[in-house]
Amino acid sequence: MTELKATALIDPFQREIRYLRMSVTDRCDFRCVYCMSEDMKFLPRSEVLSLEEIERLARVFVGLGVRKIRLTGGEPLVRRGLTDLVRQVAQIPGLDTLAMTSNGARLAGQAVALRQAGLQQINISLDSLDPDRFHAMTRTGELADVLAGIDAAIAAGFPRIRLNAVILQGRNDQDVLALVAFALAKGIDLAFIEEMPLGVIDDHDRAETLLTSDALRAMIATQHVLEPEGADHRSGPASYYRVAGSKTRLGFISPHSHNFCGDCNRVRLTAEGRLLLCLGHEHSLDLRAPLRAGASDAELADMIRLALLRKPERHEFDLAGEPQIVRFMNMTGG
Ligand code: SAM
Ligand code: SF4
Repeated sequence: MTELKATALIDPFQREIRYLRMSVTDRCDFRCVYCMSEDMKFLPRSEVLSLEEIERLARVFVGLGVRKIRLTGGEPLVRRGLTDLVRQVAQIPGLDTLAMTSNGARLAGQAVALRQAGLQQINISLDSLDPDRFHAMTRTGELADVLAGIDAAIAAGFPRIRLNAVILQGRNDQDVLALVAFALAKGIDLAFIEEMPLGVIDDHDRAETLLTSDALRAMIATQHVLEPEGADHRSGPASYYRVAGSKTRLGFISPHSHNFCGDCNRVRLTAEGRLLLCLGHEHSLDLRAPLRAGASDAELADMIRLALLRKPERHEFDLAGEPQIVRFMNMTGG
């Protein structure tokens, strides 16, 4: 048994946990209609992990075999000191990949510093290229800011940039082909994410607005040839296709139409330090209390290993009833 295996995080279904998504804040400057309600209450600051606490937990997880960390939120770029956190986490021995997901609105001024601090991959959310529809989807966002953020990320030389789009029938489905054309023109990847029933929203009926990955792929195939990427075109929850003759890969993340739990290798840490074992279940372990009570790294590692025994086999998303998951995506760390 290698040293890594001796400490690795393995759940009861023999899935090895290599990937941690850390929410660095629940706050955001947008109010996307699928993610939040219009008037949100955010956590008091004292309940949110400090940057030092986030870094400490990142080290403990890397010690347990995690090889990829994604910083997310809420909007990571509204958190003061984020670049310093990136610099600290990027230096943790054993971590292979440090990534971030952002709405891009504040990226133009920070892309170079983030890249220099050691951030390797960035996902930027973009649901429409029409300024009015973009504003309607985000409730507060300005498209021009995000486009400037995307250009800044490209200029800063991130080796991997992916756009994320959530498409809602009747709201922004007319943007799908324009988003593909945009990704092709920029030479970057684009993933379409089916909306997940997290938190109670009043903006739309999720069962009515769902556009499945299969429907999106059929729409795109009217204009482009899509080649399944590699022998196994699934990478984590996304299925990837290359647009023939281009650098651009299109990902389809299908929590409804194609369950992706079988090869799940990830867990999530919320902004207040709860370890979530599955996006679609409420099981969690509070790591903030022991952290603040002076637990050692070894004690924290033991608690995490034990919690993993409760990782469920799969999520059971159901669009017809009330959401079983009451926390919003910004709490979850999407
Ligand atoms: N604020 C950042 C952003 O928007 O990219 C990072 C956090 S956000 C929660 C991460 C991703 O989750 C975004 O790409 C967003 O579109 C997606 N998302 C939010 N709510 C969702 C939902 N209910 N279903 C599916 N994806 C969702
Ligand atoms: Fe904010 Fe991201 Fe949620 Fe939109 S999806 S409200 S940008 S956290």
